[in-house]
Amino acid sequence: MAAIRAVVFDFGGVLISPIVEKVAVMAEAHDTTMHELLHVLLGPRESGPDHPWHRCERGEINVAEIQPGLGPWAAAAGISLRGDEIELLMDGGYRVLDEVIAHIDVLRAAGYRTGLLTNTFAEFRPKMDADIGFHHFDAVVESFAVQARKPELAIYEATREMLDVDHDEIVYLDDFDQNLEPALALGWQVIHVTGPEQSLAALQEIAPVPRP
Ligand SMILES: [Mg+2]
Repeated sequence: MAAIRAVVFDFGGVLISPIVEKVAVMAEAHDTTMHELLHVLLGPRESGPDHPWHRCERGEINVAEIQPGLGPWAAAAGISLRGDEIELLMDGGYRVLDEVIAHIDVLRAAGYRTGLLTNTFAEFRPKMDADIGFHHFDAVVESFAVQARKPELAIYEATREMLDVDHDEIVYLDDFDQNLEPALALGWQVIHVTGPEQSLAALQEIAPVPRP
């Protein structure tokens, strides 16, 4: 097995508290389940050409166009949307996981290259940069910029290229298992993140740094 030279982080659920927490709160108000509402707002697990959230993540439409496009998805699920769901999801209200951010610099000091690999919108770029700081990363790979979203293979290829390492020299942390499958297929090592303590402990096994 090749030695790890690059550590790549997802954003939601890895560097900040999970977006699903907000969806869970909204689901209660809509009298539905978190999974059902997640499917309606953020689209299906598989990356398809049609869902407006997916399209915005690929830079094909603006954020303002997502909510008006959700009608058919809500109708199919039998859910009535209030009209402010995407706005609520976009307004932040998450916690930045400072201990994970701090570890990125520790990894760099130990000689690893660092990457951010995120499905995201152009409109969200200034807030994400302000909240976590793109300066921590050697490569920032945003879906709207590369016009491909996880789990589409092209965004993983772009990440490897920007980091200038081999696929088997990368370890990747993501909280959505569907986003880990293509990484595994390319030969990356992966960590399915469930929380900051778990992710940092798992990372120390695969990409060790000297303990203080
Ligand atoms: Mg995530």
